[in-house]
Amino acid sequence: MKAVRFEAWHTAPALRDIDKPTPAPGEVLLKVAGAGACHSDVSVFQDYDESLPISRLLQPPFTLGHESSGWVEELGEGVEGIAVGDAYLAYGPIGCGHCRACSRGQDTYCENQATNPYAAIGLGRDGGMAEYMTVPVRNLVPLGDADPVAAAPLADAGLTPYHAIKNSAHVLVGGGKYALVIGLGGLGQVAVQILQAITGATVIATDNKADAMELAAKRGAVTVEGGEGQAERIREITGGRGVDAVFDFVGVKPTIELSRAVVAVQGAITIAGIANGTVEWNFMSTPYESTLTNTYWGTIEDLYEVAALYRAGKIEMDVTRFTMGQALEAYDKLIEGSVLGRAVVVPHA
Ligand code: ZN
Ligand code: ZN
Repeated sequence: MKAVRFEAWHTAPALRDIDKPTPAPGEVLLKVAGAGACHSDVSVFQDYDESLPISRLLQPPFTLGHESSGWVEELGEGVEGIAVGDAYLAYGPIGCGHCRACSRGQDTYCENQATNPYAAIGLGRDGGMAEYMTVPVRNLVPLGDADPVAAAPLADAGLTPYHAIKNSAHVLVGGGKYALVIGLGGLGQVAVQILQAITGATVIATDNKADAMELAAKRGAVTVEGGEGQAERIREITGGRGVDAVFDFVGVKPTIELSRAVVAVQGAITIAGIANGTVEWNFMSTPYESTLTNTYWGTIEDLYEVAALYRAGKIEMDVTRFTMGQALEAYDKLIEGSVLGRAVVVPHA
């Protein structure tokens, strides 16, 4: 079968013919419906190497694709209660499965990471950019009759903003609250919709691409352009009080600086973009009792909730489809920034 393989550090992935996998006990074989191309894949194959501690969990070669969906094709030994043909999302992270973090479905923060063999499906373990993939039955989240192709990005582009927003829910409860979404790519567009669906906050959004701003405005966000006076204009919208919850899906120095410039007293800033921007912090640099945190992906329970929002029509995914033969092109377009929403590879198109 065809698969998009990450074969060596600092090297672009390659489209290869590999053997169709066999599900191990406790796993299923999924016929892949869709697999999203993510910026973190690009970081892995362009920027990472042995010098980073995380790289131990991402050893090439493996098949990319950590946000995937598919139809059950075959059951591994001991798997019951799953019907062949049913559509599922694959929850990507795979921890030890039995520590405190994994027990609450938070494999992302597994306490036994030091001895785990890989980080996730599509990150160290073979992922969904292939015709077929194996998934532990614990990682399957049912999609019912929802379109599994358009649903694929829910597993990361939906799950990551959902987890970040749920973590900040305490500052968004009550009337007259404001949330700011910085960066309106795959994750930011979903964040705008999730904020509308599960909080009563006024959503402000910013990006330097006009078409992304337009789409966010259509979804009810108040959009603010970048450039001179941006922070002042955002504060003005909040009546001068500042933003209660800021979600930075970029994470470069200027976006973190913007977050600090607009956050309210007792507000919350979450950095979900992994651009690794650095800022200095001191007592006077942020409003009193404001918090600055990061977040990584989400829990299995969160993915059930994201899938429920999708199935209820509360969030939609902006998807540009690519065939398996165009998979490498999907990454090229992602790198040049010319994909609106998420690039999804559809192996059985
Ligand atoms: Zn990702
Ligand atoms: Zn664990």
